[in-house]
Amino acid sequence: MTGLSSDPMAQFWAFARQGRLMVPSCTPCGHRWWPPSPLCPECLSRDVAWAEDSGRGHIWSFVEYHRAYRKDLAPFVPYNVALVELASGVLLISRIVGVETSGIRIGDQVEVDFAPIFGEADPVPVFRPTGPATV
Ligand SMILES: [Zn+2]
Repeated sequence: MTGLSSDPMAQFWAFARQGRLMVPSCTPCGHRWWPPSPLCPECLSRDVAWAEDSGRGHIWSFVEYHRAYRKDLAPFVPYNVALVELASGVLLISRIVGVETSGIRIGDQVEVDFAPIFGEADPVPVFRPTGPATV
């Protein structure tokens, strides 16, 4: 594990470009969270380090956008945006890929992958369904 810099989001995206899903982890209490910040939101400790996440979790919720709220997103409509709950407890906003939105179900199991989205060059964390909900 390495420490968080003064710009933890820049670090997060740099890890993502390397195909690594890294999240802040609090040394005293073990809490993990996203988006990254240098202060543990659970116990307020600044003793925080990066931890590699398994990238496995489930779809907590999702939406499908049928309208582009920014001009540069117009070519990608409709597209989904999902809230994924990782097994570590981290909630991450991302996209579900490899499946039509009509096939996405809340609770489905997912696994992280890294791919450019919305025509950008750098890969970011996205999630692929791996199976139905287990509960
Ligand atoms: Zn903590």
